[in-house]
Amino acid sequence: MLFIIGMDKQHEHLMPLLETHCHRCGEVTQWHLWKEIEKASLFFIPVWRFAPDYLLVCEQCHDPVKLPREFGKALLEVGNHNDANQAELEALIDKEQHRSRIRP
Ligand SMILES: [Zn+2]
Repeated sequence: MLFIIGMDKQHEHLMPLLETHCHRCGEVTQWHLWKEIEKASLFFIPVWRFAPDYLLVCEQCHDPVKLPREFGKALLEVGNHNDANQAELEALIDKEQHRSRIRP
């Protein structure tokens, strides 16, 4: 018997989140929050939806930085756009972009 199993990734734009320096394009740019949804299907019928991932994407060079899932979810709640979160996001972008630069 033949099973046709598929994996499908969808991206959903949520909102512009912050303006900060991008190490890849070397400019201060707008970063947008995106949601990545992965679904598994059987005979083209979706049967499973994985927990979504949250990505920060640079508007200029489209460099994606993956956020910890809980943090990404928390950012969607109103009132979470504060200075502490902004600092944490900048630190995350810093760390991720630095890591991808030193990767062979
Ligand atoms: Zn960039």
